Amino acid sequence: MAVTARERKLLLDGEWVETGEWHEVRSPYSGDVVGRVARAGASETQRAVDAAARAMSEPLPAYARAEILARTADLVAERQEEIARTICDEAGKPIKTARVEAERAVSTFQAAAAEARTLAGDVVPMDASPAGVGKVAYTARVPIGVVGAISPFNFPFNLVAHKVAPALAAGCAVVLKPASQTPLSALMLAELEAEAGLPPGWLNVLVGRASEIGDVLVADERVRLISFTGSAEVGWKLRERAARKKVLLELGNATPVIVEADADVGDAAAKTAAHAFAFAGQSCISVQRIYVARSAHDEFLAGFLPRVEALQVGDPADDATDVGPVIDEDAKERILDWIEEAKAQGAAVLAGGEPNEEGLLRPTVLGDVTPEMKVSCLEVFGPLCTVSPYDSLEEAFELANGTEYGLQAGIFTGSVKTAMAAGSALEFGGVLVNEAPTFRADQMPYGGVKASGNTKEGPRYSVREMTEERLVVIAR
Ligand code: NAP
Repeated sequence: MAVTARERKLLLDGEWVETGEWHEVRSPYSGDVVGRVARAGASETQRAVDAAARAMSEPLPAYARAEILARTADLVAERQEEIARTICDEAGKPIKTARVEAERAVSTFQAAAAEARTLAGDVVPMDASPAGVGKVAYTARVPIGVVGAISPFNFPFNLVAHKVAPALAAGCAVVLKPASQTPLSALMLAELEAEAGLPPGWLNVLVGRASEIGDVLVADERVRLISFTGSAEVGWKLRERAARKKVLLELGNATPVIVEADADVGDAAAKTAAHAFAFAGQSCISVQRIYVARSAHDEFLAGFLPRVEALQVGDPADDATDVGPVIDEDAKERILDWIEEAKAQGAAVLAGGEPNEEGLLRPTVLGDVTPEMKVSCLEVFGPLCTVSPYDSLEEAFELANGTEYGLQAGIFTGSVKTAMAAGSALEFGGVLVNEAPTFRADQMPYGGVKASGNTKEGPRYSVREMTEERLVVIAR
C-alpha cells in the first residue's frame, strides 16, 4: 500500500515555491495519487538558470563543497527508509530493491565529497622542450558552468545523486529536471541538500513539461553542460539541438550475457535470474539476452527457470516482492505486443508470457528467438529475457554485439583466456566476468558506447566532465 500523499513545492533560488499549477504523481501499482508537485514552465526554468548563474558568481571553496556533500551522505544514510518508501511509492520499485538504491546513494555522495577535496590540475614539465625553457606552467580544473541535469524514472534518487553530487563537487550549480513520473525522490534529495547547508541557487529543481524545460536549458548559453540519462531517442535529439554545449548521454542497452560451458553454470543461472527481473527489468543494464554454450544449455535452463518461477510478483511495498509493476499501462502494452510478435515469429514461451491475476507482467523467458526480433535487438525495459544456445565463442560475441547499444555486457567462464578475449571482443562500455552485467558500484566508470551514450558516470569521471582544464604559463 502507498504511504500518505505528499505535497511538494519546487526549489528555486533557495525558496520552496508554488506555481498555481499542480502535477499529480501516481503509484504505478495501485494508481493512487502518492503526491502532488508544483508544475514549472519556461519562466520558472529561466529563473532557475538565473539563480544558478548568480550562485556561481560567488564560488564555494572545495572544503565547503566537500563538507556539504559529506553531510548530505550522512542525511541520506539517516533517512534511508523514508527515501526507499518514496522510491517504492512513486516508481513501483519493490521496497527491498528501493532500499538498495537509497543505500547506494550514500556511496555516491561520499565519493563526490572525496573528489571535491582532491580535484586538482597538473604541473607541466615546461623545460621538456626547448620552447618551454624558462617558463613554469600548471593546469587548474575550473567549473564548466551551470549544469542542466535531466534524469529518468527508474533510479529516481541515485541517478539524480549521480548528477547533482559531482556537479557540486566540481563547483557547478545545477538546474535539475527529474522524470515527471518520479519527482518526489528528487525533491527529497533537494531538501536534504538544503538541510546539509547548500546555499541558495546551487540546486534548483523543476517539475513540468519536459520540452518546455528542455528548450530553456538548450537555449540559455549559461547552461554549459547538459547531463542526460534516459532513452536513446530523447538523448541523441537533445544533443543535436544543443550543438554548442557539452551534452553527456547515459542511455539504454539490450544487455547480453554469455554463459560458457566451462563456467559455474548454477552460479550463472542464479545471478541472471535475479538480475533479469529486478525492478521488473526496468534497469538500463537489466539482463535481456542470455547466450549459453549448446552443451550447457539444458543445465542452465534447469537452474534458471525454477528460480524465475519462484520470483514473487506483487505489491512493491511488500517485503517479499521481487517483481512489481512496470511504470505505466503503455509500457505494459508495448511489452505484451513484443511478446506476441516474437511468438508469431516462432519464439517459445519458457516462463511467464502474460500478466498475473493482478494484471502485473509475469517474469517472461523466451526461447527460439532470432536476432531480428524486437525482444533481441531493441531495449525491452521490462521483465523479459531470452535464452539461446550457441556453437562457438565467436558466434556468441557476434550475437552479443548484434545491437546498436553498448552499455554493459557479461560473460560467465572458468577461463582467464576467455575472460580476456571477451574484454577485447565485446563492444560495450563495461564487461563483467562471472557477474551479471546489471552490477554497478557507484564509484565505477559507468557508461556506454555506440547508441548507449558518450560519457562515463561515477563521481570521479563526472567531475572531470564537469570541469575544464585551464592552462597557466608563467615566464620567469
Ligand atoms: P525518457 O523518456 O527518455 O525520459 C528521461 C528524461 O528526459 C525525463 O526526465 C523526461 O521528462 C525527459 N525528457 C523527455 N523528453 C524531453 C525533451 N524533449 N527535452 C528534455 N527532456 C526530456 O526515459 P525514461 O523512460 O524516464 O527512462 C528509461 C530510459 O533511461 C531507458 O532507455 C534506460 O535504459 C535509460 N537509462 C539509462 C541509464 C544509464 O545510466 N545509461 C540509467 C537509467 C536509465 P518527462 O518524464 O517529463 O517526460
